[in-house]
Amino acid sequence: MKTAVFPGSFDPITLGHVDIINRGLPLFDEIILAIGINSDKKYMFSLEDRLRFLEETFKDEPKIKVMTYKGMTVDFCREQNAGFILRGLRNAIDLEFEKSIGQTNFKMSGVETLFFITSSGKSHISSTVVRDVIRNGGDYHFMVPDVVSRNKD
Ligand code: ADP
Repeated sequence: MKTAVFPGSFDPITLGHVDIINRGLPLFDEIILAIGINSDKKYMFSLEDRLRFLEETFKDEPKIKVMTYKGMTVDFCREQNAGFILRGLRNAIDLEFEKSIGQTNFKMSGVETLFFITSSGKSHISSTVVRDVIRNGGDYHFMVPDVVSRNKD
């Protein structure tokens, strides 16, 4: 069974994440959406909400599993027998950041990271921008799955 882990904070999940996940689906038997728990980080959405958003968004996709993990992503991959990490690249900043993480992860574990370049029209979307717009009362619905929009209405 070919399994990939898509790790992230998903605070909240955006249509940018959904795009990368959907494009990864034909390549794998299973994709584990893995919310990394970092107790030093402050989140806008609770862990329960972030889990619910992922589960609801992919409720009709049997290849998707939603989990949480603590510690290193490669350790989680090993526990889950996942040989691949799935990530998205929006711009050169993402590339530089992801390059060193991907290379380190491979050295440590042999887990390969597979990157998709963001689809055209989606590279402006980030969880950070969504959170800023929410805080300032703006329209963010076009950047997130319906379940996230419904939550704040
Ligand atoms: P992290 O907390 O690790 O930054 P995120 O939830 O912000 O996690 O993002 C997880 C992954 O999704 C990253 O690989 C990021 O580059 C990718 N991603 C986020 N938004 C987009 C987008 N609009 N297009 C493509 N990839 C994206």
